[in-house]
Amino acid sequence: MNTSYRECSRCVMDAHAADMTFDGEGHCNYCTAMLARLAAYQPADPAVLDGKLAAFVDTVRREGHGKRYDCIVGVSGGADSAYALYLARKHGLRPLAVHMDNGWNSELAVNNIENLVRKLGVDLYTHVVEWKEYRALQQAFFDADVIDVELLYDNAMLAVNYGLASRFGVKYMLSGSNTTTEGMRVPRNFNWNKFDQKNIRAIARNDGVKVRSLPTIGVWRFVWHRLVRRTQWVNFLDLIDYNKQRCIDVLVDELGYRPYPYKHYESIFTRFYQGYLLPAKFGVDKRRMHLSSLICSDQMTREQAKALLADSPYPDPDDLQMDIEYFLKKMGWTARQLEDYVKRPERPHDAFDSEAALYTRLLAMQKRFLPGR
Ligand SMILES: [Zn+2]
Repeated sequence: MNTSYRECSRCVMDAHAADMTFDGEGHCNYCTAMLARLAAYQPADPAVLDGKLAAFVDTVRREGHGKRYDCIVGVSGGADSAYALYLARKHGLRPLAVHMDNGWNSELAVNNIENLVRKLGVDLYTHVVEWKEYRALQQAFFDADVIDVELLYDNAMLAVNYGLASRFGVKYMLSGSNTTTEGMRVPRNFNWNKFDQKNIRAIARNDGVKVRSLPTIGVWRFVWHRLVRRTQWVNFLDLIDYNKQRCIDVLVDELGYRPYPYKHYESIFTRFYQGYLLPAKFGVDKRRMHLSSLICSDQMTREQAKALLADSPYPDPDDLQMDIEYFLKKMGWTARQLEDYVKRPERPHDAFDSEAALYTRLLAMQKRFLPGR
């Protein structure tokens, strides 16, 4: 038995997370920090939050006056971004909905997005990636044995969103990311810097592949958008008392939204990656972060979270088998290749060229010289 294994006594984060420390009561630094963030975002008096939302909506409307759109909302088909879009419309904003299709969308996600934009009367921009190129890039990430295979999608999604904001002169990108359901800081050993374009290119090069048509964005471009254009990525749902279940009920009742059984089931790759590849190859169970966030925001008890964790991320083995077969077919792998991949040890992202350190340096400078930006 691993004697260093330890789990927090308040949330369900465990010692797999990097830099974990515990206080005298056995509470970890992750939930302690999250509770402090929650207190900052969710004031005790709801009128304060209402005022913040109204003021923000007013600013977006004013700055977007005369433009075709006043904000951009990235939609994955998941409940959080769907609710962000709903909320934007409810407050009279004129969003452009943006979706990136990397070939792994579940059918339900596609239906949900189409239904959502139709009922809300919103324009949808879908960027469809070139599948052959994307598959070769994913293959390069698998061959490199690095943890963050989703860096490809996330970076492209950021590139597309910032690019459209620039094209339409929009300053605000409203996101479904929020503190109450996912405010737990992602441990640094669970993923990689999402603006690391250099890393993507180096990993591709390692496999003899080039990034041709996939949109990507690097650290300097991000700095330009952020500091010169003053484009802001706003966690829109932090401006309301966001209770996930209550909001899903609203989406179902008012828009005919069809919910998924688990978080991130809008993409078949994301669910297979989080439900199988991450735990099997990297020993990382991201459910611990998601469930711990819900515990901190009182949307779940620790006992309920423990019960969910006792089960596999794929409670029905047939579902896992189905996703394995889908994955093998789509990637052109044999079962043996998947077995070998899972067995090979992890390699760190910075074994390849990277601009993650540059990002960290610039962030430290920004905090020092431009606080509040
Ligand atoms: Zn904790």
